[in-house]
Amino acid sequence: MLLYILLCLEIALRTVLEIRERRITQMRGGVFAVLRLIPLVNDIVPLPENRKEPQKSQFVEKHEEGHRVLRHSVLRNLMKVAFLMVAVWFFSAMVVRWNASFIEAVLWLHLAAIPFKWFFNWYCWNQEFEADAYAFKEVGKQKAKAAMQELAECEIPYTKLFASVYREHPTVALRSQRILKKVIGGR
Ligand SMILES: [Zn+2]
Repeated sequence: MLLYILLCLEIALRTVLEIRERRITQMRGGVFAVLRLIPLVNDIVPLPENRKEPQKSQFVEKHEEGHRVLRHSVLRNLMKVAFLMVAVWFFSAMVVRWNASFIEAVLWLHLAAIPFKWFFNWYCWNQEFEADAYAFKEVGKQKAKAAMQELAECEIPYTKLFASVYREHPTVALRSQRILKKVIGGR
């Protein structure tokens, strides 16, 4: 019973988040917006991030270099492995110890993963800010600003709250605020 209450709550909260997003950004969500509301389906629906591919600027190159120097992908993967191990443990405990059916265990796992995903996004955002800070130091303010303007033009401007739930990358608005102390693009 509790499982189904929580799933309904999830759908309700995601619907509110989606409506809020459509209102603020005045942009259509398309078919993905509907798919994002459905439990389990929303685990695999991709979120389009760009309207068009941004140019490879020197800032972007240095940003990627920052990720490498700071060993970000290793840390990310370690965290993924840790989460996966917890998930396997949780799933087998559900089935073996609590006699949950397979589909119930999958649904519980889906719900339990939501806060972990949120935390993971927050962790990734911090890595992106670190890589931005690295690039900013390397190329300077002018180039960083130009790159942010370019990225803002290419990016689909999600709100901060929406992005924190669905994106591993912070929005350009947040990134520019961090490094330039000035919001470029977004809301
Ligand atoms: Zn990055």
